[in-house]
Amino acid sequence: MSLSPPRINAFLTLLAVVFAAVGCFLQWELIESQSRADRRAAKFRQAMENYERENIYYDPQATITWLRNRQNPAGYFVPNPDLIFEPSQRNANTLRATRYAIATLRELDALDQINRRAVVEFVLANYVPNVAETQSGPYADIYRNGRYAGFRTLEGKPVGVRPTMDALIILDALNALDDPRIRLEDIRRFILVHQNPDGGFWDEHYPESGQSSCLKCTSFALRALGVMHRHTHAPFPPVFKEQVAGFVARCRDPESGGYGSAPGKAAEDLYNVFRAFITLWWLGGGSDAAGQAFVRAHMDVGGALDYANREHYLPAAGAFARYRNHGDPRHPSLKATHLMVWLATALGRVDSLDVQAIARFTASKESRPGEYGGDIYSTYSATGIFKKLGVRTSPLPKPVRPPPYRPPFPAYLPPLFFVLALVTLTLSYLSKRQELETINQLLAHQAAVDGLTGALNRLRFEELLSAEMRRAQRYGSPLSVILFDADRFKHINDRHGHLAGDRVLRALAEQVTKALRAPDQLARWGGEEFIVLAPGTDLQGALRLAEKLRQLVERTTFEEVGHITCSFGVAQYRPGEPSERFLERADQALYQAKHAGRNRVCAERRYGDVARVSA
Ligand code: GH3
Ligand code: MG
Ligand code: MG
Repeated sequence: MSLSPPRINAFLTLLAVVFAAVGCFLQWELIESQSRADRRAAKFRQAMENYERENIYYDPQATITWLRNRQNPAGYFVPNPDLIFEPSQRNANTLRATRYAIATLRELDALDQINRRAVVEFVLANYVPNVAETQSGPYADIYRNGRYAGFRTLEGKPVGVRPTMDALIILDALNALDDPRIRLEDIRRFILVHQNPDGGFWDEHYPESGQSSCLKCTSFALRALGVMHRHTHAPFPPVFKEQVAGFVARCRDPESGGYGSAPGKAAEDLYNVFRAFITLWWLGGGSDAAGQAFVRAHMDVGGALDYANREHYLPAAGAFARYRNHGDPRHPSLKATHLMVWLATALGRVDSLDVQAIARFTASKESRPGEYGGDIYSTYSATGIFKKLGVRTSPLPKPVRPPPYRPPFPAYLPPLFFVLALVTLTLSYLSKRQELETINQLLAHQAAVDGLTGALNRLRFEELLSAEMRRAQRYGSPLSVILFDADRFKHINDRHGHLAGDRVLRALAEQVTKALRAPDQLARWGGEEFIVLAPGTDLQGALRLAEKLRQLVERTTFEEVGHITCSFGVAQYRPGEPSERFLERADQALYQAKHAGRNRVCAERRYGDVARVSA
């Protein structure tokens, strides 16, 4: 199948459009895929940021294991597991450490994972059923007239409110308050004997304070009493409640909204805010509803939290500092933070805390798997914070990094298609130009050539003539024309028909053209009259040529018609004369030839003088 030029052109244009469209599509796809990859990367960065911020978790089992590794077979817990069998590790602090271990395990619901029996035995080993028998020193007399029972931290140490509280909290956690070896009534009496008329309590465990009331001892006493009252379902007498609550209220520092260590003391230690809260909580009964209601009735909870946040919170650290003024720079404290988290969550005021910052601070304190702040007490605080704030116990799934951006196809493809489009468009343009040139040539040919005979037409002849005349004038070269006319052509038409006449004229032009040399040109002058332009030819040469043509015509047999003859008039150009005159002379010569009998060549010798050259 071959395509015509317009079809090729249309095809190339279409191809260019297709290439450009494909190039555009690929470019768009490239940009789109890049921006899709950018979006994926941004999403990943955002997810990573969220992950870093929110991936706060703790592993309860790690803490449980960590604690289990610190329990001596005798039941108690030691801070250093390497010294677990070292007798010196059992000291005045062991009861406290054990209480914190038990409280942590209770918080983690893991008390069944340790030797509970041994813990109870360890605590009961320091139970003193009759304090008067062991107690010595300035307070010994107090216990002479009655039965008082309590706990000490270690054999040889005094029975005190604080160790009794620690012991009761442990026994309560292990459901051992009903052990027949202890008498809760005697213990209760022991605690209550430490109350002063101002409503507050003292504790021989802190001999430096003597018998004056302090918020710290009061909170220990109320926790000890609270545990027992809750166990026996005996509420505190209203008078007692108001008395103690009054003492707590007097410890409030109106200046700052915090609590001092005793009435009239300025607030300084954040623990006192917690002590006030926990005292009131147990006074209220130690349950969520009753405890909360009582605390709210006797404490400006909002004011206390404002105080804590304003004076003790370190936003950069995400933790509370224990002390208000000294210890500058103040240290973020796990213990103080835990106590505030405890207070705020128990009172439904988590909104006052920067939960995420606190959780992150706490998680950052992990010093070994499951161990926080390097000791049992800090680990207890951290666990309390995690549990109370509901921190997750497993890491968040890490966001999956998207694969690096790979273009779906080589980046040079779009420009390649644009180049192809340009090339085909150029080819299309070139082919269009070629087509137009061909058409122009055809038109030019049609404008110059006579349609019937293929000889030049008269218009074109006149152009050539004037060009040749200028050349002849300029270089002095000779120039001649031969005008010839078919003889008696009318008869031919009449006899053979006009169409046959046409064919004769065409054949005549063809024969004459063949016989001419290169620079000579044949034109149809009109009808059955032709003219030969012979540049570089003088009159003699033109006469010879005309004679040659006359003989040629005479000899030629024309189809259907047979032989015809032509008469020829020849003239040489005279420099300076106008073309009309030049042609008129040739015409006159032709007229002469006709007149002289036709089938002959005539030339004009001079103006008005025509010679017959042949016959
Ligand atoms: P003469 O020898 O005097 O030239 O006689 P003639 O018959 O040729 O007379 P004239 O030149 O006056 O007439 C020209 C005739 O040529 C008239 C016309 O029938 C014929 N003729 C002119 N042009 C054409 C043409 O294009 N085709 C055909 N078939 N005949 C033509
Ligand atoms: Mg004629
Ligand atoms: Mg004629």
